[in-house]
Amino acid sequence: MFENLSERLGSVFDRLTKQGALTPDDVRAALREVRVALLEADVSLPVARDFIKAVEEKATGQAVTKSVTPGQQVVKIVHDALVDVLKGEGEPEALKIDNPPSALLMVGLQGSGKTTTTAKLAKRLKDRNGKRVLMASLDTNRPAAMEQLQILGLQIGVDTLPIVKGETALQIAKRAKQQATLGGYDVYMLDTAGRLHIDEVLMDEVQAVRDAVAPRETLLVVDGLTGQDAVNVATEFDGKVGITGVVLTRMDGDGRGGAALSMRAVTGKPIRFVGLGEKMDALETFEAERVAGRILG
Ligand code: GDP
Repeated sequence: MFENLSERLGSVFDRLTKQGALTPDDVRAALREVRVALLEADVSLPVARDFIKAVEEKATGQAVTKSVTPGQQVVKIVHDALVDVLKGEGEPEALKIDNPPSALLMVGLQGSGKTTTTAKLAKRLKDRNGKRVLMASLDTNRPAAMEQLQILGLQIGVDTLPIVKGETALQIAKRAKQQATLGGYDVYMLDTAGRLHIDEVLMDEVQAVRDAVAPRETLLVVDGLTGQDAVNVATEFDGKVGITGVVLTRMDGDGRGGAALSMRAVTGKPIRFVGLGEKMDALETFEAERVAGRILG
């Protein structure tokens, strides 16, 4: 998911580590290349700037340039700065679904991979966490979307709320809550309707649902291939409905990865999961250390 960035940084750091002794100017020149690589990966400008500044302050110090392995020290500083920007403070380790039945609200634009992600996450909660999960589609405009969730549910062995024609999203959400309570489910996941663009009607609907079910988590699903747009969508959704985390999909594609690096710094919200394919198992938790390691090869 970070092939290009990883390759670019790899060549900068290869040169740096082979060079032996380093002056602060050598380090600064290398960091200029890192900055360009970040921008080419579609990392937002202020994030790239702050990142380089933080690294430069540490990496041009005496302790680094006078050390026997200055190149490696710089790589280590970059690694730690990547972990910082990916993780941020106080990242919750897991989804808070300890108070059954907990609602998980899934929001996002149409085509972002929301329904697929809902099912992937339901499967994960069932298989790995032993949770009883109920899924419900609130997409009253698109019967096909409701059927899609039902089909996925059958495929992964997770129950879906029976479809009743003519209900509003809010009515479906309330019925899901009731069914989850009566049926002894741990979690009920609400796959809200997506639109092609963020609009007031969509936001009003999501707000009404949110107020009715008081979700433990509101996860925004965004297409990781859209780079900075993904971050803009997250900012808007957070402003309107309040999100607790982000799932970046299509990170198996040849995206430039910038969304992953900017998301936390810009929105203050953690990336919880990444989608890595169309299959139901292609969902990974997002761990800053591992991702930083992947970026640096
Ligand atoms: P929705 O409109 O947001 O509910 O989007 P869907 O869940 O229907 O997904 C749209 C398309 O994206 C489907 O063909 C999915 O299989 C595909 N998709 C979803 N997540 C991923 C992912 O992580 N990687 C890839 N390659 N495809 C994905």
